[in-house]
Amino acid sequence: MKRVLVTGGAGFLGSHLCDRMLREGYSVIAMDNLITGDLRNIEHLFKEKDFEFYHHDVSKFVHVPGPLDYILHFASPASPIDYLKMPIQTLKVGSLGTHNLLGLARVKKARILVASTSEVYGDPLVHPQTEDYWGNVNPIGPRGVYDEAKRFQEAITMAYHTFHGLETRIVRIFNTYGPRMRLDDGRVLPAFIGQALRGQDLTVFGDGSQTRAFCYVDDLVDGIYRLLMSDYPYPVNIGNPDEITIQEFGEEILKLTGADQKLIHKPLPKDDPKQRKPDITKAKEILGWEPKVSRSEGLKLTYEFFKERVKTEKAQETE
Ligand code: NAD
Ligand code: UDP
Repeated sequence: MKRVLVTGGAGFLGSHLCDRMLREGYSVIAMDNLITGDLRNIEHLFKEKDFEFYHHDVSKFVHVPGPLDYILHFASPASPIDYLKMPIQTLKVGSLGTHNLLGLARVKKARILVASTSEVYGDPLVHPQTEDYWGNVNPIGPRGVYDEAKRFQEAITMAYHTFHGLETRIVRIFNTYGPRMRLDDGRVLPAFIGQALRGQDLTVFGDGSQTRAFCYVDDLVDGIYRLLMSDYPYPVNIGNPDEITIQEFGEEILKLTGADQKLIHKPLPKDDPKQRKPDITKAKEILGWEPKVSRSEGLKLTYEFFKERVKTEKAQETE
């Protein structure tokens, strides 16, 4: 049985990857220091005999006994409010953490896939973003701690590939959503749904004309699995190209939740990208991948999850 290490395994994406790898017949180790993760995301896996959890900070030396075939490096604060609260940890996990995991991959002769991001394109001047665009990042702006850590991560991963011949994969993930996001993580979808559920107005930052393109988590996980199994060492965009303005997105959430609140405007955070949409030609050609879940379908599934979570939390509060 092959063994895979998933860092950030108690997080939103990491926990879905643990599920998928177990379903594919791998033995899975989730490693996480729980700074933004939640054990509830993996509690259903503790009964599985092929699942282990290590509570560890990957920015410190990483040791895993026994063989390893694959490493999926997903540990990192990922939402703007998280990485603004934890700028140094964010820089460390993208740089020192990645270095530790590349070293581990070398020792174990494992293949490693690292989670990069559309943020490597910064506030992009090329639209939609293709993998050969080098980006427009402000290194000393508030988002620089995340963007530059991820750019360093790509550079050191490529260096291990070319210099040490390590088998590496780099996925550039665009905005992804779905069950197990934290209601309070500050990203736009949980923010809007949380506000709708609490009876508050929805806070659109700026005039709402900025765009994003949202990918449902199951589609993303499938793209990542295909990339891991491919022989392609260069970065690949995975995301859903269905672009929408944040104003329209807020209106969609109001319709979905049936809330009779309104959209209100708050100042746009510094360096907030004005437009973002992946060019997924490479993913289509190399991996035979494209997203299948429409936004309306994905939003319904995610809303059901959040409603349940709020209900359970309320029930626990009154216990
Ligand atoms: P998340 O916050 O839910 O998960 C990240 C996990 O990493 C958490 O469980 C956290 O506790 C853990 N972690 C952070 N630092 C750690 C450390 N030093 N050692 C061990 N564990 C640590 O976020 P997510 O959305 O699941 O993001 C996962 C990865 O995907 C991140 O690397 C992120 O940069 C990348 N990504 C996500 C998106 C997205 O839309 N969700 C987009 C682009 C890139
Ligand atoms: N946003 C918003 N209201 C919120 C949270 C976010 O209008 O309550 C905006 C934010 O300014 C950005 C977009 O929604 O333009 C996506 O933000 P998110 O934090 O989800 O991701 P990112 O900016 O990293 O794409």
